[in-house]
Amino acid sequence: MGEQMIYLNGEFVKKEDAKVSVYDHGFLYGDGVFEGIRSYNGNVFRLEEHLERLYDSAKSVMLEIPHTFEELTNIVTETLRRNELRDAYIRLVVSRGAGNLGLDPLSCPRPSVIVIAEALSLFPKALYETGIEIVSVATRRSRSDVLSPKVKSLNYMNNILVKIEANLAGVPEALMLNDQGYVAEGSADNIFIVRKNKLLTPPGYVGALEGITRNAIMEVAKEKGYDMEEAVFTRHDVYVADEVFLTGTAAEVIAVVKVDGRVIGDGVPGPVTNDLLVSFRQLVQEDGVKVYADHLNAV
Ligand code: PMP
Repeated sequence: MGEQMIYLNGEFVKKEDAKVSVYDHGFLYGDGVFEGIRSYNGNVFRLEEHLERLYDSAKSVMLEIPHTFEELTNIVTETLRRNELRDAYIRLVVSRGAGNLGLDPLSCPRPSVIVIAEALSLFPKALYETGIEIVSVATRRSRSDVLSPKVKSLNYMNNILVKIEANLAGVPEALMLNDQGYVAEGSADNIFIVRKNKLLTPPGYVGALEGITRNAIMEVAKEKGYDMEEAVFTRHDVYVADEVFLTGTAAEVIAVVKVDGRVIGDGVPGPVTNDLLVSFRQLVQEDGVKVYADHLNAV
């Protein structure tokens, strides 16, 4: 592969040249929206769903994306082609753009649009085999009526504080509760618990992003005949679960084997998690927007 090329406001530039203004309100204020997307085997998984969520986030914060759905689809697939990538993590960012030092978005005439694609495994590969340990942290999920978790904005300070707490505890990820103490989600992933073959994940209103991986896992679980429900639950329910796992585009599906010092089930990835993981891996290979012509895809 040649040099990594990044899409930046209408052109492809080398990584070292991919720079935005220090007056960009994405930089100054976290004013913007983004998506994390993955392609598997040259298929972009659930691209339409990601773009829908991006447009919804943008509409919610009154940011007008200067591209049509089709244009953004092409920009994403072209970024993969330029970088000759089939399996990649894709970051699509639309910030408010460069303005003045004031908060007012009216000073920003042109949003910045950025697409970065590269190979990425969020956690070290070995952890996908063994499962991970997590802790619940003091940082609470921002309330839905303050900044809706449905808006995937560039303001990730809430999540970053969670990640800092995870780092301090020496674990790779942490669990956020909402302001009422109910389980919400991880710093960048959704949580599922399994008890007696029944799967539970917190509903969006508890403070979880309605993750696209979460949606896919819910679909797969239902298809496979598992009892699956969105439900409000507490840390206690997590501690006594037979299995716990996290889902996210970057994280994919990863088992959790210890929470706040409590060993989950047998302390290894459980049968339901493994079963869903196999189906998920199958699904992502087949499903999605094709990046390359079919004959290349078969290579
Ligand atoms: N929650 C948060 C806070 C996230 O940042 C992410 C990653 N986008 C997720 C959940 C998982 O969502 P998805 O499966 O759509 O990547």
